[in-house]
Amino acid sequence: AASGAAAAQLRRRLESELEDIRGAGTWKSERVIASRQGPHLRLEGGGAGILNFCANNYLGLSSHPEVIRAAVEALEKFGAGLSSVRFICGTQSIHKDLEEKIARFHQREDAILYASCFDANAGIFEALLTPEDAVLSDELNHASIIDGIRLCKANKYRYKHMDMQDLEAKLQDAQKHRLRLVATDGAFSMDGDIAPLREICQLAQKYDALVFIDECHATGFLGPNGRGTDELLGVMDKVTIINSTLGKALGGAAGGYTTGPKPLIDLLRQRSRPYLFSNSLPPAVVGCASKALDLLMESNAIAQSMAAKTQRFRSKMTAAGFTISGKDHPICPVMLGDARLAAVMAEDMLNRGIYVIGFSYPVVPKGKARIRVQISAVHSDEDIDRCVEAFTEVGRKHGALP
Ligand code: PLP
Repeated sequence: AASGAAAAQLRRRLESELEDIRGAGTWKSERVIASRQGPHLRLEGGGAGILNFCANNYLGLSSHPEVIRAAVEALEKFGAGLSSVRFICGTQSIHKDLEEKIARFHQREDAILYASCFDANAGIFEALLTPEDAVLSDELNHASIIDGIRLCKANKYRYKHMDMQDLEAKLQDAQKHRLRLVATDGAFSMDGDIAPLREICQLAQKYDALVFIDECHATGFLGPNGRGTDELLGVMDKVTIINSTLGKALGGAAGGYTTGPKPLIDLLRQRSRPYLFSNSLPPAVVGCASKALDLLMESNAIAQSMAAKTQRFRSKMTAAGFTISGKDHPICPVMLGDARLAAVMAEDMLNRGIYVIGFSYPVVPKGKARIRVQISAVHSDEDIDRCVEAFTEVGRKHGALP
């Protein structure tokens, strides 16, 4: 055991910090799942058959039999892992194949894999931008974009969430710099709203800027062929750089990537620190993502099924009297306002066998507490209806509905 005055002082400080978090009511506890990820879960210490509405398993591929089989085959053929970073002794044919497949899926020149999209976001800005350049970032961008931008030495501009007037003003101000990069989430995970990429790309053209999007909550299901926000909004040829994850719709294991112009990808292989100094993706993880992309490139039926279920949930909840934020996105935030109401309603939903999570300040702005529901292609219509019925009952009980 650690001993000495410094260790004792550290322990006291940590305990006091933990107490502050508990006192602020922002303590995050983790429920333990005793089954595979999917629409029906068994929770440790709880009953089976819990209906799950809070995973990013949008297409239900996390436990798809073909995805699991592909992982097992990759594990057997290529081993547990590489014990190396990519450039020393850690590149296998499956890594190159997956990068080629990702680039083809997004219709880009090349792609580079990371251990996560968090790493992809941590690695891109510092490698690409210098103090001569500027980055313009939506104020509600994901934490990993914010951290990635912190690591770079470019001039930083933060524009108001999806506010094109503010972005234009910041672009005008940034004309003095060599290069301008606008960075935005394609779809924002707390609100289920979609960045106005058409307008962003028009402004980028007007002010000679590049556009970067984080597609973690879009890849695989937004747009007619699931290519993402850029396909949905008809700007695939105008967005220069895409970062996304393999850990949500694309099989749900782990991993992230950047896809875009070949010289950019080549530069990232030389300079991007999370790529250079971290282990290669394990073969089983590569196998999952590769199979997920095959399934999506064969047919858009899974994505369409998810869209239909999203529509069913959104319209039934709206008819029941709830306000659902965002539009046409499987992230369906049920807006409640009050933090306590969101917490007790989420708890009561679980008592009725429906697993949903309440979010309140500081994760979302004060007074905008909500329960975030996420729809998956593998929910049945009956699952959706059961969820709406439970919300209606619980909403009436706690005064969220008349
Ligand atoms: N970007 C966004 C918008 C996300 O929601 C997430 C995951 O929460 C990430 C990046 C990080 O992705 P990963 O889990 O692959 O690190």
